Amino acid sequence: MGITANSVWNNCLAFIQDNIQPQAFKTWFEPIEAIKLQDNALSIQVPSKFFYEWLEEHYVKLLKVALTKELGEGAKLVYIIRMENTYGNSEPFTERIPSTNRGNVSPQEMDVPIHSKNPELKNPFVIPGIRNIKIESQLNPNYNFENFLEGDSNRLARSAGMAVANKPGGTSFNPLLIFGGVGLGKTHLAHAIGVEIKDKYPERTVLYISAEKFTQQYIESVKKNTRNDFIHFYQLIDVLIIDDVQFLSGKTGTQDVFFHIFNHLHQNGKQVILTSDKAPVDMQDIEQRLLSRFKWGLSAELQNPDYETRISILKNKLYRDGVEMPEDIIEYVAKHIKTNIRELEGAIISLIAQSSFNKKEVTLELAQQVVEKFVKNTKREVSIDYIQKVVSDYFEMDVATLQSKTRKRHIVQARQLAMFFAKKYTKASLASIGSQIGKRDHATVLHACKTVDNLAETDKQFRKYIEDLTKKFA
Ligand code: ADP
Ligand code: MG
Repeated sequence: MGITANSVWNNCLAFIQDNIQPQAFKTWFEPIEAIKLQDNALSIQVPSKFFYEWLEEHYVKLLKVALTKELGEGAKLVYIIRMENTYGNSEPFTERIPSTNRGNVSPQEMDVPIHSKNPELKNPFVIPGIRNIKIESQLNPNYNFENFLEGDSNRLARSAGMAVANKPGGTSFNPLLIFGGVGLGKTHLAHAIGVEIKDKYPERTVLYISAEKFTQQYIESVKKNTRNDFIHFYQLIDVLIIDDVQFLSGKTGTQDVFFHIFNHLHQNGKQVILTSDKAPVDMQDIEQRLLSRFKWGLSAELQNPDYETRISILKNKLYRDGVEMPEDIIEYVAKHIKTNIRELEGAIISLIAQSSFNKKEVTLELAQQVVEKFVKNTKREVSIDYIQKVVSDYFEMDVATLQSKTRKRHIVQARQLAMFFAKKYTKASLASIGSQIGKRDHATVLHACKTVDNLAETDKQFRKYIEDLTKKFA
């Protein structure tokens, strides 16, 4: 019989039991489960973070002696912490435990590692905390480079991503900021980079997280008074991927904490990868100091895929699903869905489903119906010219007046509303909106948007303008 996690741990327990009070043994050691043994590292599962701290504080020496007896000088102890409560078990940060199913782990593990109140913990035997706790990367292996098809629209971002994956932290693309509209592959590419790094450098700690979850965790940590632990946890990551950072806009507390984490990682040569639906210049309500950090590295845009790329994405999807589809159908779909790869995929999946469930042949007519459904559901993009026209008409003035330099209040307000709606309903940058609405700069547009927001809250008449106009655009 070879040695197993259980046999090692049972021997340790026998030794420990001989050396401490029965009550203490019952309280602190019986609840522990040995999970696995790999090389010289024994993984044990403890019920809570508090439990772990207690063990580290009171029994680290004893554990060391016991384990060294069993495994020799190189022995290591890995803690796995079981979930204390049930919120968000979607967030298994520490290693999930393969052999026991109740071992869900929660976000609070992130505060595990951090503290070492006890100076003895410097002991290399049990390097306390996170270094011994594996962090699940939260990566989706289906989002990889292989199925992220290359085209003119994504070439820069894709190859920058590759470069980062080859040398995380070692290129000037740090941070790498990937930006672009909805459904253009930001999340996919961000995962692909992480997956590739995990593949090339299995020992590095990679973590993917959406800015939204990051924010929730941060708020939670503030409530639980574990803000420092939160920061320390993130400072231990080698490759940090934060998706949709535009979500941080207006959230000053989270921005602040992210700023500290970012600086720490950057200074230590760790890689940061960010995605956003806007270019840094167009991000609103993000602190300047953070924005300037975003610009340190490379901002790479994912643009709308060209026709060729759309065709190859469709064909690749069909190929992977083992489905054949007439060429003219593929072309039809590619011609009509242009600005969102998620919709492109959605349409083809829907066609595949129709043909296989209903045993219907995929005809051009069916393709037309499906595409129409998809295109209808997508908000048609209104142009800035159209917006200016509608707003001018509404206030019974002409577009030239709306654009003029006058400071007359009602004209200024009309202009600000036009800017506000242009921001809301088009993908144009602040700078481009400004230049099209009377040659103003981006700061003026930003100011206009804020003014409209404020007035919407405080001024009833103004709110009515917004409602009326919104109806005209929606
Ligand atoms: P975003 O995060 O920008 O909204 P996603 O990354 O979620 O977009 O991508 C939307 C869908 O399009 C995903 O299913 C993704 O796999 C697919 N996709 C995006 N870009 C590509 C590409 N270059 N090649 C293949 N599939 C892609
Ligand atoms: Mg996304």
